[in-house]
Amino acid sequence: MNIGTLEEHYRLELAPLYESDEAKTLFSLAAEQILALSASKLMVKKDEAVSFINMQKFLSILNDLQIGKPIQHILGEAHFYGLVFKVNENVLIPRPETEELVDWIISAYGKQGSINNFEPKKLSILDIGTGSGCIPITLKKHLSNTKVSVLDISVDAIAVAKQNARQIGVEINFIAADILTFKTEEKFDIVVSNPPYIRDLEKDEMHNNVLLHEPHLALFVSNENPLIFYKAIADFAKTNLKPNGELFFEINEYLGKETVNMLAAKGFINIELRKDMQGKDRMVKAGI
Ligand code: GLN
Repeated sequence: MNIGTLEEHYRLELAPLYESDEAKTLFSLAAEQILALSASKLMVKKDEAVSFINMQKFLSILNDLQIGKPIQHILGEAHFYGLVFKVNENVLIPRPETEELVDWIISAYGKQGSINNFEPKKLSILDIGTGSGCIPITLKKHLSNTKVSVLDISVDAIAVAKQNARQIGVEINFIAADILTFKTEEKFDIVVSNPPYIRDLEKDEMHNNVLLHEPHLALFVSNENPLIFYKAIADFAKTNLKPNGELFFEINEYLGKETVNMLAAKGFINIELRKDMQGKDRMVKAGI
């Protein structure tokens, strides 16, 4: 059977599906991480024989890429703020925009307490809709003296987040609950969330590798009530933030004004809207 060379498969099957640079990057990542073969070597020594096992593995990667499976799902991991998180189809793949949200919190709270050698005040943080756990785990890792809790409606997502916390070596308190009904007596210094915010009407703008492979539960909201989770989280924050506490949201780029207005109507103060690296409205901070 002529199973072809890796280079032939790459050129004939993968490259035409992607911009060629993207195909090359995906190919290199897969070759290096899964086959433990240096991609540059593969591309130069195109016809060098590879073992049958590697070829089988390669073909299965190729097939996954052809059906639009995200590279992070193929590798089983994603990089976020210098850490590596396990991901699967039950959690959203961490996005660079969310790194910017986390960075906002770390720069705002990271230095407190270092003045005059005071022990920093213990911060309590709640992340709502945690998915892979990339937000709370990164915050716990970078902010000393914090108590971090997370909430998610999906027990499958919590299983992934727990595994990530264990692997990265941080202690997190996990709660499986729906924020639309969740209540607690506990008060927090920071409530943070990247809830679902893509309206059904925006589905057309989305790539199939997101639509077919990432959890819709984490992504979509109705056209009629796109701020449903933001309103519920804002109400929760009104009762459960400590004095001087702050609420941080990742938001839909088209709903910046609506989110700010909703927060102002609920009586939040010092509301700040920020853009992401692409110049799109992407995060909001508000105080009580
Ligand atoms: N930013 C994500 C995307 O564009 C959506 C994240 C969310 O809905 N919270 O796919």
